[in-house]
Amino acid sequence: MTLVPGTDGWPTDQAGELLVGGEPLSRVVAAVGGTPCYLYDRGRISARVAGLRAMLPRRVLLHYAMKANPMPALVGHMAGLVDGIDVASAGELRVALDAGMAAADISFAGPGKSDAELEQAQAAGILVNIESFREIGPLARASEADGRPARVAVRVNLPFELKASGMKMSGGARQFGIDAEQVPEALRAISAAGLRFEGFHMFAGSQNLRHAAIVEAQQRSYELALQWQDLLPAPLRSLNLGGGFGIPYAPGDLPLEPGPVADNLAALAARMRGDFPDAHMVVELGRYLVGEAGLYVCRVVDRKHSRGQVFLVVDGGMHHHLAASGNFGQVIRRNYPLMVNGRPGAREPASVVGPLCTPLDLLGDRMELGVAAEGDLVAVFQSGAYGRSASPRGFLSHPEVREALV
Ligand SMILES: *Cc1c(COP(=O)(O)O)cnc(C)c1O
Repeated sequence: MTLVPGTDGWPTDQAGELLVGGEPLSRVVAAVGGTPCYLYDRGRISARVAGLRAMLPRRVLLHYAMKANPMPALVGHMAGLVDGIDVASAGELRVALDAGMAAADISFAGPGKSDAELEQAQAAGILVNIESFREIGPLARASEADGRPARVAVRVNLPFELKASGMKMSGGARQFGIDAEQVPEALRAISAAGLRFEGFHMFAGSQNLRHAAIVEAQQRSYELALQWQDLLPAPLRSLNLGGGFGIPYAPGDLPLEPGPVADNLAALAARMRGDFPDAHMVVELGRYLVGEAGLYVCRVVDRKHSRGQVFLVVDGGMHHHLAASGNFGQVIRRNYPLMVNGRPGAREPASVVGPLCTPLDLLGDRMELGVAAEGDLVAVFQSGAYGRSASPRGFLSHPEVREALV
């Protein structure tokens, strides 16, 4: 068995076939009905959650942010592993409830929640992270009609940015959350509307590989919550410090060290016992829990030469995996790690492109790959998060992509 370089330890067998859940990739692909497909390895997901759990103190709850991967079977698997699920729409709420997650442990964040979504959230009894003063009215009306107050937390637009973050979601002017300066007013409005205040939600940004930056953001978020201690309409029950744990995509990326982040959370949890005795802390993670457990697999349809370069044209591409094509918010395009299955010998420079009529449909730009033939499988690693659901699947009307939890 050999481990594929540049991946989170994916093994291959003697024939150079990638092993997925102990089985050769070609067999797994045949069993799920062919390419193109996403394969999510449930053993890897379980191991990732267990590894993180072992580091976190008990007063820190681990939530899954399901927009990273909303496949129902995967969410069902996750529901048995984590303490809660964070949803970003009524559609995701249905999947989380179907997955068996208790309503008490579901929270709902996102700008522009409709009245219908807010009514549904109140009726279900989930925690709503309020992102705007507008959300208070519909929640108050639903609460009054039902005789049971909606559970709310204030999502805060922090007065600082998460340094070194791939996607900043706080600091400056934002559509997310209520500006920190307006939080005292929001607390008064929540109290006046008769809603049940439970806590704060502070999500600074995504895809961060630097533990020091995450620790700093969590530290500053905690101090901010402390400043509002005397203004709270009810004792603090939940302090969601976000997450933003990243995963490596390019050869130069160093994996995040979760140890120092967990140590800092333990220190904060100890302080919290004195400052907020009724509260627990929450970290909500998407990509970090599922990203490295997923593969996108497609098949070589054509191997062609153009002016000295080799192009492997495959049966999948940006319409299924926008992020791997570099078009999902990346500033500089970098190849995701990928391999030609079952070609452990000679290597050559080649580009992997999809079937769409646009040069954007590029999965691998001039990479050193095993020499591929028509019919070979190509596996794209780090594909478990922001894959299928974050892609323009209708573009060019190609067949849908399969998904399997293996
Ligand atoms: C997207 C999102 C997450 C998950 O981010 P990851 O980078 O996948 O961990 C968590 N919380 C909120 C509020 C989000 O919008």
